[in-house]
Amino acid sequence: MSTQISLLTDVERLLEAEKLSDPRPPETVTWNPWHGCHKVSSGCSNCYMFARDLSYGKDPRDVHKTNSFNLPVRKLRSGPHKGLYKIPAGSHIYTCFTSDFFHPAADTHPDSEDRGWREEAWEMMRERSDCTFFMITKRPERIAATLPATWDGQQKMWHNVTIAVTCEDQRATNRRLPVYLSLPLHHFTVVVEPMLGHVNLRPYFDRFQYTDTAGQVRPLINSVSVGGESGPNARICDYGWVLDLQMQCVEAGVAFSYHQTGAKLRKGGKIYNIPRELQHSQAKKAGLDFDGEKMVGWD
Ligand code: SF4
Repeated sequence: MSTQISLLTDVERLLEAEKLSDPRPPETVTWNPWHGCHKVSSGCSNCYMFARDLSYGKDPRDVHKTNSFNLPVRKLRSGPHKGLYKIPAGSHIYTCFTSDFFHPAADTHPDSEDRGWREEAWEMMRERSDCTFFMITKRPERIAATLPATWDGQQKMWHNVTIAVTCEDQRATNRRLPVYLSLPLHHFTVVVEPMLGHVNLRPYFDRFQYTDTAGQVRPLINSVSVGGESGPNARICDYGWVLDLQMQCVEAGVAFSYHQTGAKLRKGGKIYNIPRELQHSQAKKAGLDFDGEKMVGWD
């Protein structure tokens, strides 16, 4: 056991050295190792990936490996940075945004000689511990059985990976959060997008907690992000739902971000149609973002 720990520490030292030896600035990158999915709840009704694939005459339910499957570990073959990874050290990698990382198609099948796609993807993320990875799932019930064997939620290892869960309404919240908040994760991020109804997170803030290094009891959920639905068939997001959830987060000391308004925002009894290019900036103008201690941009 002690040999294993000292080996891991050596690997971490090497990765740190690699980070320091990469002169390029970090980037924000999207990595879609596989593509295609199956709908699991009302939050999926207007899935942008389905709409786009159908518009090209493709079947969005055909889940397949993409050409960029090994993107995080590809290296430059020429130029001044030859030999370094194509993705600079310290980059933030949005992972699996045209599928669900925990979709069964990526599982390891015991009757197959091939390793599952997910197992290979975990290995790439481990190799790139100098980058951060962020993924969102609607399948938290599949996470426990498909985490890598070295993931225990305590060690420094895997801190670079955030697995967020989507809860579009109270029904999805009540189904997904008890499972999600019982997992050995390092970060607990709840994405309420597309927000389709009022969401009460107070029972989850109260029931799932930890004690921080200063001895303070805090909710396990460390951040909540909210957004409305986009696209031609977007459903209404009520500003009152957003405000109420923000208040819940401020009271509980949980970071809150109003990511985007969506295309149809109900406010003061009126429905506003908001063009795609303004949905993000209008949400930010509302000034609701909270970093867990203070409002953002109110200085
Ligand atoms: S889980 Fe995500 S990618 Fe899959 S159908 Fe639903 S919205 Fe689309």
